[in-house]
Amino acid sequence: MRQVKFLDLPGQYRKMKHEMDQKLHEIIDKGAFVGGAYPAEFEAAFAEYTMTKACVGTGNGTDALEAALWGMNLPEGSEVVIPANTFIATAEAVVRNGLKVVFCDCLEDYTISPESLESVITPNTSCVIPVHLYGQPAWMDKIMEIACKHGLKVLEDSAQSHGAEYNGERTGSMGDAGAFSFYPGKNLGAYGDGGAVVTKDEDMASRIRQYIDHGRTSKFYHDFQGRNSRLDGLQAGVLSVKLKYLDEWIGARNRIAGIYLDKLKGTDAVLPVVREGVRHVWHLFVIRHERRDVLREYLTEKGIQTGIHYPVALPKQPAFKADGCEDFFACRTDKELLSLPMGEHLTAEEAEYVADCIKSFGG
Ligand SMILES: *Cc1c(COP(=O)(O)O)cnc(C)c1O
Repeated sequence: MRQVKFLDLPGQYRKMKHEMDQKLHEIIDKGAFVGGAYPAEFEAAFAEYTMTKACVGTGNGTDALEAALWGMNLPEGSEVVIPANTFIATAEAVVRNGLKVVFCDCLEDYTISPESLESVITPNTSCVIPVHLYGQPAWMDKIMEIACKHGLKVLEDSAQSHGAEYNGERTGSMGDAGAFSFYPGKNLGAYGDGGAVVTKDEDMASRIRQYIDHGRTSKFYHDFQGRNSRLDGLQAGVLSVKLKYLDEWIGARNRIAGIYLDKLKGTDAVLPVVREGVRHVWHLFVIRHERRDVLREYLTEKGIQTGIHYPVALPKQPAFKADGCEDFFACRTDKELLSLPMGEHLTAEEAEYVADCIKSFGG
């Protein structure tokens, strides 16, 4: 039977095998495993790509969020607002900094609701983390306006939005800082864990760089107690090779999304809402369906791999058990979410097959 893959990293590697192998051999040959030219090369390229001034590579995206929050010097114990529908890392970064997580709702396009954000702000709120979920930028002009009015810092969780744009500005460049993940399955993924903080504030960037490298000034001299979370040489090399293809892959993702949006019109599936003036990068193509689990089973039988992002909204997880979020759109609809195969590995014909199968499911 035919198989439609959710993700195909080995296939992606095969298409750039020669170039990638050469790069990796070069790095191993030079023993450039930690620090040095390769992370620096990638950081410069990624700062430019994100339209910021500085990029600090980290060990993963969760640490990038944590280090960026640390760099903002928020008052101890103050409140940081995050949307209810996100990956747990957004919340962990808050808790690890001794700050308090406050959830707000998301809009029907799954990004943070400005109205809900404003409703949970207290005198103790110090920061908001909009998440550019599924690859669509959050409603940034509204969020920046609210942040400005209440004196909040803004950290963009850009783990799913490499290259996404809001009114021509790249995600990660609009708030005080942006945090990216290069987890292998992300639109720009390493061959292991990786992450980065980007910002236009070069002073903050150098403090963060010191923080993620033991607070050191030189090898065994330390200004303060930091931690160890660096982007290593091999991962940086992989990312430098892949970054050149990112825009082409974003184009391919948009073509696949176009096919889904077109062919799934008029079915029982609730389609993703694309806001005006954005460059969506379609990290995930998420539909909603009342009989989500049965549909998912049906697609599996048709050889189509799917995912769920995320099956239980964060406020409902045992890790948080946050009260007062029961009525959130995010908390009511999590059982309907279904992520379809998405990526540059898909052919137009495969996307049509996926759409046809959803139609034939009684749509
Ligand atoms: C992947 C992801 C992260 C965390 O990145 P890791 O590299 O896995 O630590 C944070 N936030 C969101 C929204 C993500 O999707």
